[in-house]
Amino acid sequence: MGLPEEMTASLEEGLDALVGLYRGFHAAPELSMQEHGTAAAIAEHLQSYGLETQTVGGTGVVAVIENGDGPVVAFRADTDGLPIEEATGLEYASTASGTLSDGTTTPVMHGCGHDTHITAGLEIARLLTLHREAWAGTVVMLFQPGEETAAGAAAMVADGLWDRVPRPEAVYGQHVWPSVAGTVALPVGTALAMADSLRVTVHGRQAHGSQPENAIDALVLAAYMVTRLQSVVSREIAGTDMAVVTVGTFHAGTKENIIPAKAVFELNIRTFEPDVRDRVLDAISRIIRGEAMAAGAPDPDIEEMYRFPHCFNDEEEAQTVLTALQEELGADRAVQKEPATGSEDFGTFADSLGVPGVFWFFGGFKTQTVENGVPGGNHSPYFAPDDVPTALSTGVRAGLTALFTRVGK
Ligand code: ZN
Ligand code: ZN
Repeated sequence: MGLPEEMTASLEEGLDALVGLYRGFHAAPELSMQEHGTAAAIAEHLQSYGLETQTVGGTGVVAVIENGDGPVVAFRADTDGLPIEEATGLEYASTASGTLSDGTTTPVMHGCGHDTHITAGLEIARLLTLHREAWAGTVVMLFQPGEETAAGAAAMVADGLWDRVPRPEAVYGQHVWPSVAGTVALPVGTALAMADSLRVTVHGRQAHGSQPENAIDALVLAAYMVTRLQSVVSREIAGTDMAVVTVGTFHAGTKENIIPAKAVFELNIRTFEPDVRDRVLDAISRIIRGEAMAAGAPDPDIEEMYRFPHCFNDEEEAQTVLTALQEELGADRAVQKEPATGSEDFGTFADSLGVPGVFWFFGGFKTQTVENGVPGGNHSPYFAPDDVPTALSTGVRAGLTALFTRVGK
């Protein structure tokens, strides 16, 4: 088995150009659901391979590659950047900026490596059109915006995606991560955590700093909430279950001699199992409302910011893909992986059709640990693969290998 030689030869031949394409995307990241330039560039490349493109879900781009009778499968690549100021020092580092939903301007960076996903996805499409003799069926290429805010996959599905393209019988996708380039890692079963983000607005009563008897101190009350929320995982969740509760922002007050009437904090919750998720969310709500009641404060507002669904790798499908990846890349270069605590909205595509999905990780770096003590994981201002050719060629081979488990000849 393995990919046909002509296909890997074309990949090798085009690799320098592919690295150039990657650098272009790296230098021009855009924020979630604002990927207008990125979408235009993706569509232009797909069209240059002779494909028709559709705009789906705002800045999503879809191309259907038809190649005779056979199964229909889909491959997804996400396209958005992050509000991060790039600190890699690379000659093709981003100097782009964007506007957040609150109107503030921010530097933007491909800090999660979605530029590698776009580039690999385009090359997969190019090689599929170039080597039609190697496969039969239909491949739906999904270039999805807004992964970082969990908005994009849902927006594409809501925009009638599955009425506009043939419905796949399986969906595949991948993510670059800080591991050795040339390797892939694939979870069987749960792949990634569910994530819930909440914004809590605590209401009190403002008074002079010298007159606590006239106040309900929203700052102290919110601090109690944050402290007590630390006990959800340690005291309410079984040691064998995974849950993370992080309070990532906290804002209250304007001046040291004013007791503030309002405090706002935001939390992020990660879980692997739906029943654990329910339990954690119930506990959070109970603690926040209970603390407010104890302080004599009005009921706080708890608002859902966004929510990432379960990302589950169908076990049979994942095993089939893993075996094929081991044949293509070598058994030591394609390994099974434990679930990761990161989150993705990739699962939305397969879930919305009730078909299997498989999601894996591919390495981007010369060594496993990033050198010089620089924190270089995804979402770091230093995150950029330092072995781009190997990372891209592995991503392309992995994607084609997964697709060929169903459409390969
Ligand atoms: Zn990310
Ligand atoms: Zn990502």
